[in-house]
This record gives sequence, C-alpha cells and structure tokens, in this order.
Amino acid sequence: MNLILLGPPGAGKGTQAERLCDAFNLVQLSTGDMLREEVKSGSELGRTAKEIMERGDLVPDDLMIAMIAGRIDTGNGGDGVILDGFPRTTAQAEALDAMLVEKGLKIDRVVQITVDEDAVVERISGRFSCAECGAGYHDSFKQPKQEGVCDNCGATEFNRRADDNAETVRSRLEAYREQTAPILPYYEGRGSLQAVDGMGSIDDVFGRIKAAIKGV
Ligand code: ADP
Ligand code: ADP
Ligand code: ZN
Repeated sequence: MNLILLGPPGAGKGTQAERLCDAFNLVQLSTGDMLREEVKSGSELGRTAKEIMERGDLVPDDLMIAMIAGRIDTGNGGDGVILDGFPRTTAQAEALDAMLVEKGLKIDRVVQITVDEDAVVERISGRFSCAECGAGYHDSFKQPKQEGVCDNCGATEFNRRADDNAETVRSRLEAYREQTAPILPYYEGRGSLQAVDGMGSIDDVFGRIKAAIKGV
C-alpha cells in the first residue's frame, strides 16, 4: 500500500505517518526530514534550502524532484511507502506520476488531513522531536511518558525546528493554500482522494485515517 499524506503544516502528517508505519509496516518518506538532514550536513542542496525553509517558502521543484527520485523504489523495504510533504506542487505531482509509472508502482490513497488554521498555529508552536530518532512530540498534546526521555529510543535530547515560529507559519500556510491545495483536484479526479477531519485527538484522527484507507 502506497499513501500520500496531504495537509497544511502542523496538520499531523508526520504524527500520523509514524502511527501508520508501525501499524501497516510502511516506510515514511518525508521530504521535510530529508531537507533538514541536508541542511545539517551542509551539502550544496542543504545550503540552498536553508534560507528558503527559514522564510517558509517552497524549495524549487527541480531540486525536490531530483531529491525524491532516488528514494522512490520497490526496494524500500516494508509493504509500501507513505509520502509526507511530497508532492507539494502540480509539477511535483506530475513528476511523481512519471516516476511511479517507471517503477511499476501506484499511489493507492491520497489522504487529505483538514484542520483549522488556529489549531495549526497552536500545534506548530508546541512541536518538538527527538534528536536521536525523530519521534514527534508536543508541549501540551503529546508529551513523552517520562519527562525529557524519548518514548521510542530513550534519548534525552530534543530539537525544535527553526521554521516553527508564528511568523514563518503564515508564509507556510500561504504556500500551502496557493501552491499545494491546487493539487487536490488532480487526485480527486482520479478517485484516490480521501479527506479526513484532522481535528480531535491523535487517536481519533488515526482511527479516521484507518477507515479512509480500508479496502486498499
Ligand atoms: P510541515 O511538516 O510543517 O508541513 P515539512 O517538514 O514538510 O513541513 O517541510 C518543511 C519545509 O521544507 C517547507 O516549508 C519547505 O520549505 C520545504 N519542503 C519540504 N517538502 C517540500 C516539497 N515537496 N517541495 C518544496 N519544499 C519542500
Ligand atoms: P505536520 O507533519 O503535518 O507538519 P506534525 O505531525 O508534526 O504535523 O504535528 C504538529 C504538532 O502537533 C506536533 O507537535 C504533534 O505532536 C501535534 N499533533 C499532531 N496531531 C495532533 C492532534 N490530533 N491533536 C493535537 N496535537 C497534535
Ligand atoms: Zn527517540
């Protein structure tokens, strides 16, 4: 089963991808995580992407398509992939289709997570993640079971993203509305789009996503 998770920043894509990977033995491909790795490593792509990400704009399509091209493969291990954060523009969606055709793969469902903008800002302001394994947390909504210790790997260091501030969130929401939302009709036309209400607890949303992908 191959899935795409679509939704504005802070909608819960990464959180739900973690749950889905465990439940269905899928591999998560997050272009945001990949870019943050590139920035950390100081690669050429990372140096280009850093400023763009800090502004809350989208990294150019050609760079993104080249970055993901090597990762979409039948040899990813697991029973399929979850694309989290890609595609984000019509050009990326079209390039993805071409890659999938070449590999003999297809996307089974595109899950659109819908959320109120106020909730997004609240979710993003409290977001942090494990520095070791990347597990996601929130100051109010998802604290580690033992304070300061990652549930998943036991590490005690955490990161907050440079772009998770109220200012940048506005640009990211605008980028979503203007460049990413227009790809929804593209998937709707093929009958693969399923909208899921992303408001409510993480468990509630997970239940709705499971229902939306039933039968795949
Ligand atoms: P969020 O989880 O808040 O939706 P991501 O971690 O997916 O954010 O992405 C962080 C930033 O990385 C984006 O604001 C954008 O600058 C860049 N980025 C990630 N994926 C893409 C993509 N597919 N196309 C262009 N830019 C991207
Ligand atoms: P995205 O990948 O779409 O940008 P995340 O999955 O990183 O979003 O979620 C953003 C923040 O909101 C994280 O700190 C996460 O723990 C928290 N979060 C995710 N889903 C929910 C939810 N249903 N209710 C409350 N907080 C949530
Ligand atoms: Zn961890």
